[in-house]
Amino acid sequence: MNSFAASQQYFNRAADKLDLSPALRKVLSLPNREVTVQIPIEMDNGRIEVLTGYRVQHNRARGPMKGGLRYHPQVDIDEVRTLAALMTWKTAVVNIPYGGAKGGVTVDARSLSKREKERITRKFIDEIHMVIGPDIDIPAPDMGTGHEEMAWIMSQYSKYHGFNPGVVTGKPVEHYGIPGREEATGRGVGILTFKLLSRMGKKIAGTTIAIQGFGNVGSHTAKFLAEGDAKIVAISDHTGAYYRKNGIDVMDALRYAREHNGLLLGYDKGEALTNEALLELPVDVLIPAAIGGVITAENAPRIKAKMIIEAANDPIRFEADALLEAAGVTILPDVLANSGGVTVSYFEWAQNRQFYKWSLDRVRQELDRLLGTAFEEVWERSQQAKVSLRTSAFMIAIERVARATTLAGLT
Ligand code: GLU
Repeated sequence: MNSFAASQQYFNRAADKLDLSPALRKVLSLPNREVTVQIPIEMDNGRIEVLTGYRVQHNRARGPMKGGLRYHPQVDIDEVRTLAALMTWKTAVVNIPYGGAKGGVTVDARSLSKREKERITRKFIDEIHMVIGPDIDIPAPDMGTGHEEMAWIMSQYSKYHGFNPGVVTGKPVEHYGIPGREEATGRGVGILTFKLLSRMGKKIAGTTIAIQGFGNVGSHTAKFLAEGDAKIVAISDHTGAYYRKNGIDVMDALRYAREHNGLLLGYDKGEALTNEALLELPVDVLIPAAIGGVITAENAPRIKAKMIIEAANDPIRFEADALLEAAGVTILPDVLANSGGVTVSYFEWAQNRQFYKWSLDRVRQELDRLLGTAFEEVWERSQQAKVSLRTSAFMIAIERVARATTLAGLT
């Protein structure tokens, strides 16, 4: 089964509990528009490469569509479609006035020079500038992209449509970005982990946590949780995992990565493990914060954590989700867990439209407020309806999108 069909099962499971007409169900499940483009670019060595780029716009009932751009070798139409739909539910769960979209280019960002990345990004925007825009669809960073790509997007888009910083979020702070956007996803994961622990009557101090991934999301999550007194016992990046039973000094690991090309390779203050083994460590909380699909029906029975926080998008396969639920594992779903990123993107976009600069304190306060409300709503609904947090989050999101669709008179 492809990943879109697989992730649709989460949608279907929640939709079955709601009273949706068949037409509405179809409108909400299928993408609104899909664009596939060719990106021929000249590499630094003079060779011409022809890459493929995608933008899938899933739903716009609640506002302009919103979602990141991923530069990764695994990017294909199926993955982008899956992630675009997740954005629709994510923006609805956290109740910001957006729909959902996602895009990407099938390329290994790590193998590219800065100039190559710039050429790819500008060429990609040449091909999709007519379907994005501050009132239509607003890209943002995702795996393999960051504030530099976002600055190039703004510049390239402006060549066609005039100056408009609100066409993209996650821009550099000094160039129409917002303080706190870079930390936002990880900070949000941390805030929500603490909220879940407290709702479940668990103490933070001494809670053991393993985090897979030490990129933007994983590293900021680790920092926030460690500052809050949790014990991070394992971290990892694509080069391998590192485990220390008595806790890893996260600031030291961050320094190490900074001094070693952003990588943990060779970090020797912990036992070296594989990324697969990290998932199966005896910890209280497991946080997958890297690629999707890492927890499957095969490895799920070996997972010992009683709480999983989905910092990555789509890290748990549907079959594995059912096994974990039956085993009493509490899962905080991606559509809520990592929604801090798109939430601060919303603040950035609103700031851009007003030309009013927010302070870091205000960003953090508002993030905390929006995530707190979303968490309580999802928690309450799961208690009332006696469903998992994922089904509860999907039910709330589907209801909101369905209501907006009906009010607009489309079905
Ligand atoms: N790529 C991030 C996500 O998956 C952020 C999207 C955004 O800020 O629009 O939620």
